[in-house]
Amino acid sequence: MQRTPDARSRDSDHRLDIRLEQIKIIYSAVPLSVIAILINSTILSSALWDVIPPATNLAWLLGTYSISVYRWLIYRSFKAASPESLASEDWLRSLVVGTLISGALWGSASIFLFPPDSMLHQVLLAFVIAGMSAGAVTTLSSVFHLSAAFLLLTLTPLIWRFVTAADATSHVMAIMSTLFALMVIVSSRRLNNTIMETLQIRHERRQAERTIRYQALYDELTDLPNRRLLLKRLEQEMTRSVRHSHMGAVLILDLDHFKTINDSLGHRVGDKLLKLVAMRIQSRIRAEDTAGRLGGDEFVVLIPEVGDAPGIAASNTQKVALELLDQFRRSFTIEDHELHLSASIGIALFPMDQRSPEDLLQQADVAMYSAKERGRDNTQIFLPSMQAAVDQRLQVDRGLRQAIGNGELELYYQPQVLASGRIIGAEALVRWNHPERGLVSPAEFIGVAEETGLIYQLGDWILRRACEHLAVLGRERGLHIAVNISPKQFRENSFVERVKTIIAETGAPPELLTLEITENVVIDNIEQTIGRMQILKALGITFSVDDFGTGHSSLAYLKRLPLDVLKIDQSFVRDIGTDPNDAVIVETIIVMAQHLELQVIAEGVETREALHFLTAKGCRQFQGYLFARPEPFDTLLGLLHRPSMVLVS
Ligand code: C2E
Ligand code: MG
Ligand code: MG
Repeated sequence: MQRTPDARSRDSDHRLDIRLEQIKIIYSAVPLSVIAILINSTILSSALWDVIPPATNLAWLLGTYSISVYRWLIYRSFKAASPESLASEDWLRSLVVGTLISGALWGSASIFLFPPDSMLHQVLLAFVIAGMSAGAVTTLSSVFHLSAAFLLLTLTPLIWRFVTAADATSHVMAIMSTLFALMVIVSSRRLNNTIMETLQIRHERRQAERTIRYQALYDELTDLPNRRLLLKRLEQEMTRSVRHSHMGAVLILDLDHFKTINDSLGHRVGDKLLKLVAMRIQSRIRAEDTAGRLGGDEFVVLIPEVGDAPGIAASNTQKVALELLDQFRRSFTIEDHELHLSASIGIALFPMDQRSPEDLLQQADVAMYSAKERGRDNTQIFLPSMQAAVDQRLQVDRGLRQAIGNGELELYYQPQVLASGRIIGAEALVRWNHPERGLVSPAEFIGVAEETGLIYQLGDWILRRACEHLAVLGRERGLHIAVNISPKQFRENSFVERVKTIIAETGAPPELLTLEITENVVIDNIEQTIGRMQILKALGITFSVDDFGTGHSSLAYLKRLPLDVLKIDQSFVRDIGTDPNDAVIVETIIVMAQHLELQVIAEGVETREALHFLTAKGCRQFQGYLFARPEPFDTLLGLLHRPSMVLVS
């Protein structure tokens, strides 16, 4: 099987890591082994003083002392070496040389210090050499070949000595030394196995810890730092910039219309595209800059030093940002698809008046949205004036969180009627009774709730309340209620389950519940959307596309969806009488709805002229100030007691 470069580099990391541990173990035993050698060689030399010529004896002793000093010195330099250099094979080589010379010296003792005529001294020599060999098993076994070579060098001459002697006792000694040699080599092998297994386990554990640490700080797809690591680096750079009085910049780069690619070509292509984008961004920045991924199609570039004054810093960063945008001029080729992509970049400089790295990112984010609003494929530097909008959003978010708990939210209902004025249903529209500001329009807070994720809780509350009302309304009058579902809410995994639960708990008749979704939901993930809609339709729920005509949905998409109603956006209805384009659009939508066998309802009907135009073109259902404004539920109930809607003129 062909292995990937990744797997190969992991293997080599693995080997290096274990090698380093082996080297460390063997070095850690050097002091003990040096001391043992010094003591044993001194004892041996003195014990043999009378039977061996002093010159030979001293030469041998000097040899062992010298090699011990050499081993001690390399041990000291190993201890003092920098951690990165420890894995080098040079360290092992130096130690191997010292150890083999030492082994040879001990072996040579059997040649030069062997007293042929004194059995007692021979046994003493054999005893000391055996002791040294046994010691070597403990100190050298982490590198088996070294241990085995040392033992062979030390013991072979001794065995040879006994073998070649003429007397029977020596032959017995030869057999015993051979057995001993075999035994210590086998023990060394076994000890080596145990050590290697332990090292393996330790390595795997370390590896697992490393992976966990990596995953916590890096984005799995692109290998770029993730939000957590970015925030950490940002914090460091913000502090450094204050200390050294220079300025840095953060750029948030968001791909334009990435979702369309992801949804139409699939996540695999989307993922590959994100990887390529990461590579292009990285190729454009300097080594001291950091590129990261915040998630989705949002990337960040941190430039620690861009200039000393705001003006220079801004123009330098702008240059980098434009260079980054240039990276998107070339198309991306993925699996035979040639993809053209652009991006929008928001820039925030620091240190300005940000309190935290999060603040800084938020400023860059606000600037990025402004770049998107200005037509995408664009860059925008954060301006202090944008802060007001940020602060207001924060305020709305904070207030809204409390509003749900404090019962400050209320559902209003706007009747939906036939041309005759007969009410057939109502659209639920949420209102916030703000303790200081009075009635706050959803236009002001739905968007914020979407951004902060509060929409889940809010959407739940709205659907539950609407279903409670529908339980009353449906039972008494057979009227339906339309509830607006925000795209994020619809995309939540538990959405279908939540709807089912709420219907079951409130007792609302599902066949009278209409969910208003927007075109964005429709084009976002067509398969998933169809799946969810079908489950809910099976319960009897109907679906209507809100603000139709303002989004990007195509006829091909619409045909595939199990829809019931198209709701013509009020922006077209408003100018029906004055803008010929709008009149044509409205007419087209009505014709299209008829072809697709969908009902059509016009919203924002304010004038009789509009009503007449719509009726003439075949629209049968209406909603707008001409009939009624959104009113509290009780007012709606009151309206229902009239025989038909009186037109408000
Ligand atoms: P929408 O769903 O398109 O709702 C219609 C909006 O048009 C409502 O504004 C309604 O009051 C207004 N409208 C109705 N008739 C007329 C008319 O004749 N002339 C004019 N100029 N306007 C008319 P509202 O209540 O301020 O809601 C604004 C938007 O906020 C809604 O647009 C909807 O997108 C969102 N929204 C409102 N309530 C909810 C809710 O409960 N959940 C969610 N997710 N979104 C909601
Ligand atoms: Mg609506
Ligand atoms: Mg609408």
